[in-house]
Amino acid sequence: MTSINGPALDALTPTFGGELITPDDAAYDAARQVWNGDIQRRPALIARCRGTADVVAAVKFCQEQGLQASVRGGGHAVAGTAVIDDGVVIDLSLMRGTHVDTAAQTITAQGGCLNADLDREAQLHGMAVTGGFISHTGIGGLTLGGGIGHLMRKFGLTIDALRSAEVVTANGDVVTASEDENADLFWGLRGGGGNFGVVTNFTFGLQPVGPTVLAGMIAWPADQAPAVLAFLRDFIATAPDEVGLIGNLRLAPPLPAMPADLHGKPIVALVATYAGPVKEGEQVLRPLREFGTPVVDLIMPKPYAMHQKALDIALPHGRHYYWRSHKLGPLTDEIIAILCEHLGRVTSPMSTVGIFCFGGAVGRVPVDATAFANRDASHDVNIVAAWLPEQAADAARHRAWVREFWAALEPFSRGVYVNFTSDDAADRVRLAYTPEQWARLTAVKAAYDPTNFFRLNANISPG
Ligand code: FAD
Repeated sequence: MTSINGPALDALTPTFGGELITPDDAAYDAARQVWNGDIQRRPALIARCRGTADVVAAVKFCQEQGLQASVRGGGHAVAGTAVIDDGVVIDLSLMRGTHVDTAAQTITAQGGCLNADLDREAQLHGMAVTGGFISHTGIGGLTLGGGIGHLMRKFGLTIDALRSAEVVTANGDVVTASEDENADLFWGLRGGGGNFGVVTNFTFGLQPVGPTVLAGMIAWPADQAPAVLAFLRDFIATAPDEVGLIGNLRLAPPLPAMPADLHGKPIVALVATYAGPVKEGEQVLRPLREFGTPVVDLIMPKPYAMHQKALDIALPHGRHYYWRSHKLGPLTDEIIAILCEHLGRVTSPMSTVGIFCFGGAVGRVPVDATAFANRDASHDVNIVAAWLPEQAADAARHRAWVREFWAALEPFSRGVYVNFTSDDAADRVRLAYTPEQWARLTAVKAAYDPTNFFRLNANISPG
């Protein structure tokens, strides 16, 4: 393992105001962990930045010393691209400040913010950014790849809410990217991932949401899964934009809300969000709540910020994870049969399949407006295997379940969501974009990062 110390580190310390963590420090082992406990990399240095000046210092230091770097936002990338063996982690986890401008109806958030940081401040004013489903995901990676969440059918993807970004480029310059300044970079940042620089500040448009929304989970036993998934297909096809919906397949977790006789048995669940008046939502969601014989119905008025945390428990830090994903069209009977068959073969009680519903505002943005393709897809299905660190001997079995499930759905694939790539990123990154978008992205990469300094990501080479 490489360590950076002595004279090399002396070149950074005078210009760096954050924390520098080396393998000799007590904080090192905790600092190199990411969300996926299966990733165990050993960086030579973790540079925890406090602000833009620290990011500039870290980038210049790496360039001058010829060191490879990774960029860490919330640490959620399942492939662990936030951490690098023997290189420098440019760690933004101390950069979690936000500022709401109520007059402009915008929020500016530092590059290391998590979804929860934005929800907390924006909800003070009854507003929200269309963001992710889990409160502890970083807005850095989430935004740069697209950003899907409960509000996307009403307000679009997170990139559709982005107004501007402050970016530290590969040579250490600080630039603003917006429709008016460096518009090519601004376009690339909206879907092209962390390829073009470190975003130190994002400014998003806010939308009125809640603070109380009608939302929650409703579940049926797996014998009703084919009918529930067919219902989901038909219901979402005509549902108003206010309806956010996720299908979920898994073994029932041993939670108090779940009937005890169902624990460990396969279930199909829907997680609904109504981004409008609660009374209206009660009417709109009634057919869903009256469908079949649900065993649990937790849909109720609740604070939006609380709903944003409701799924956190299903995907905690530190478990070992592996996943694969496809964008899909409408859930045909053939697709439903595959989903139900592979639910029946699930290998771990912690594994879970999310079927996220696009539509509404997502599909109304022209495809060339941002670097996000297949906006007309109906769903993204993400097949997630999870197991405990002490169960590592079973990892191959859990991964095989994901791969076989994913391969069965491949004939129906409508492309790739770059934020849901894993060990397939290098092979499939091009499928996340149209050929025109890919050509444009490689040109932006060549302009802002010609040596591919930012390469630990779903990489777009400079051409
Ligand atoms: P990190 O691992 O820190 O970063 C991933 C990559 O993003 C880095 O390698 C770097 O290239 C880049 N990056 C991060 N921050 C910056 C920055 N400020 N500037 C430049 N580059 C940066 N996606 C959704 O769209 N919606 C969801 O609801 C959603 N939920 C998720 C829930 C869980 C539990 C997990 C694990 C992932 C989820 N994702 C979701 C996927 C998520 O968007 C990606 O994993 C994303 O990369 C996470 O960003 P991060 O900053 O947390 O990750």
